[in-house]
Amino acid sequence: MSSLPYAGLNLGYFVGDNDKNVAENRRIMRKSLNLQQTRMITADQVHSNKVSVINEKSNISGWEDPRRSIRLTDALITNLQNLTLVITVADCVPVLIYDTKNKVIAAVHAGWKGTGLGIVKRTLDQMKDSFKSNLENCQVGIGPSIGICCYSVDIKVIDFFRSKFSYWREIFNLEKNTFGKLNLVEANKRQLIEAGVPAQNISSSDICTSCNNDLFYSFRKENGVTGRQIAFISLNNKTL
Ligand SMILES: [Zn+2]
Repeated sequence: MSSLPYAGLNLGYFVGDNDKNVAENRRIMRKSLNLQQTRMITADQVHSNKVSVINEKSNISGWEDPRRSIRLTDALITNLQNLTLVITVADCVPVLIYDTKNKVIAAVHAGWKGTGLGIVKRTLDQMKDSFKSNLENCQVGIGPSIGICCYSVDIKVIDFFRSKFSYWREIFNLEKNTFGKLNLVEANKRQLIEAGVPAQNISSSDICTSCNNDLFYSFRKENGVTGRQIAFISLNNKTL
């Protein structure tokens, strides 16, 4: 329903697109994937490391209503059936986690700030605390996001990672000490593996949203004015 610069199937509210178009796009997406029977839940996504566990008491209605997202959070976890956790992105890294034994799922939004603040690590910690997840049983999918080929960052970002991670040099391609390119997918993989997720359980699309702007929205490539694609995960007690 959306027109340029949101043309395609923009699924993100609050990016400048018309709310009615986004609501219709969301209805189209849900119907085409036969997800009408599941409740779909989104996060506010404020580039934090806040994690929210979704249970029956949570506000879990209103995929079409922009005011119904879970406030001030960047990761959603649940063990409820027929509930779809949704992350909206346009360059940031979407990380989907599935504990195959305890049947717990998580969807994480990891931009540079959330990644630097350890959002993936905190999500895994919460899965362990709330659901006794053994990370060896977790399968992880990493969706299309900006690649190291296109993700130039400045000294502010480099310093942030340098202050947090001993391996920071391994996730940058430094051109100078004050400028370089960040491998955001690798940064998140490092957090997953260090926390205890086996490397062979992590699948990454390795598709750069900026290089493939004909297929994906890219915040960088489109100078900050663009739509959002989504990554989603749900536990379903029957095959869709
Ligand atoms: Zn690229």
